[in-house]
Amino acid sequence: MAVNLLDFDLEGLAAWCEGLGEKRFRAVQLYRWIHQRGESDFEKMSDLAKSLRAKLAGSAEVRGLPLIGEHRSADGTIKWLFDVGGGNAVESVYIPEDDRGTLCVSSQAGCAVGCRFCSTGHQGFSRNLTSGEIVAQLWFAEHRLRGADGERVIDNVVMMGMGEPLQNYAALVPALKTMLDDHAYGLSRRRVTVSTSGMVAMIDRLREDCPVALAVSLHAPDDALRDQLVPLNHKDGIEALLAACVRYLDAAPRDFVTFEYCMLDGVNDAPEQAQALVRLLKGRVPCKLNLIPFNPFPASGLKRSPRERVTAFARVLQDAGIVTTVRKTRGDDIDAACGQLAGEVQDRTRAHERMLRAPVRLPTRGVPLQETKA
Ligand code: SAH
Ligand code: SF4
Repeated sequence: MAVNLLDFDLEGLAAWCEGLGEKRFRAVQLYRWIHQRGESDFEKMSDLAKSLRAKLAGSAEVRGLPLIGEHRSADGTIKWLFDVGGGNAVESVYIPEDDRGTLCVSSQAGCAVGCRFCSTGHQGFSRNLTSGEIVAQLWFAEHRLRGADGERVIDNVVMMGMGEPLQNYAALVPALKTMLDDHAYGLSRRRVTVSTSGMVAMIDRLREDCPVALAVSLHAPDDALRDQLVPLNHKDGIEALLAACVRYLDAAPRDFVTFEYCMLDGVNDAPEQAQALVRLLKGRVPCKLNLIPFNPFPASGLKRSPRERVTAFARVLQDAGIVTTVRKTRGDDIDAACGQLAGEVQDRTRAHERMLRAPVRLPTRGVPLQETKA
């Protein structure tokens, strides 16, 4: 199959072009055509030498993802479903705000981490996306939405779609580099966020290879509960995770880590749990807390915390001096809100069955989560 040029960051493209006997500045021209102009037809890249165009035509292509569906929410959010082959499909979500546009990008077809409250987690895992498939989501969205004036539309990317980005590290890093490159999308490091369920070793590698803004999905103030909600917590535990966050901040473009905390009714939303969170974080990790009201889906057996409980939880944190925001739910009328992205996954891990076989026990009360259903 022809090489997909979306797979390359600029260094990769320059090396590949060198193999064709082409100088680096040719690679820069090509990269700019692809990412800044959204061009996929080599014939239209008018300032590329004819000889290079001929070489490209025989060996390469700019292969975007086939679009399966587009849904527009009443609030302006747009969700796209892309075919990634083999019966798998992934989703991306564009979230317009007054002064900026954010694209939420997927990194895997499914996810192997298996968090209880996440629709993708329940679907299991099929495969990693390639760098080209990650970048293709931005390439498509940016050029789909860009108006005649050529003004950039997307200025934030959050790796918060389907998948655990740090479990697809080798493909993630070149994709991030293309997002940041001034010859491509030129996004600020502060405006590209990797969200992770907390893979300690990989947080350390990201710090070395491509530090961008970091969001860590915490969801619990202690290991006993986090083990139940985010199964990979068993490996390193919260202490090691927080230490990795502190190390990350040395190199990070922002001086805080964002902790995401999905508010689950009767599970992790008690005021005592907010106090435990304060004891865990205060004076230890410069951070902001982002409380995400749980977005329900039928198989989860979980409920969203009532609004008053979320407010009370936020107040405990704020009173302790921890900057805390409650995330506005966007696009829930088209199932585009956090954790609702499901796409289509040919599961190879039997995740859903496993979750049903092993109901989660709440450490505080010993009640299996599935029995907390009203
Ligand atoms: N795998 C990465 C990124 C994708 S999930 C991670 O876990 O961080 C993006 C965010 O949505 C995470 O904070 C995740 O915990 C949260 N999330 C997952 N399911 C959710 C749900 N049903 N309701 C609200 N937030 C959810
Ligand atoms: Fe995977 Fe993130 Fe969903 Fe957990 S919350 S299952 S890590 S996508």
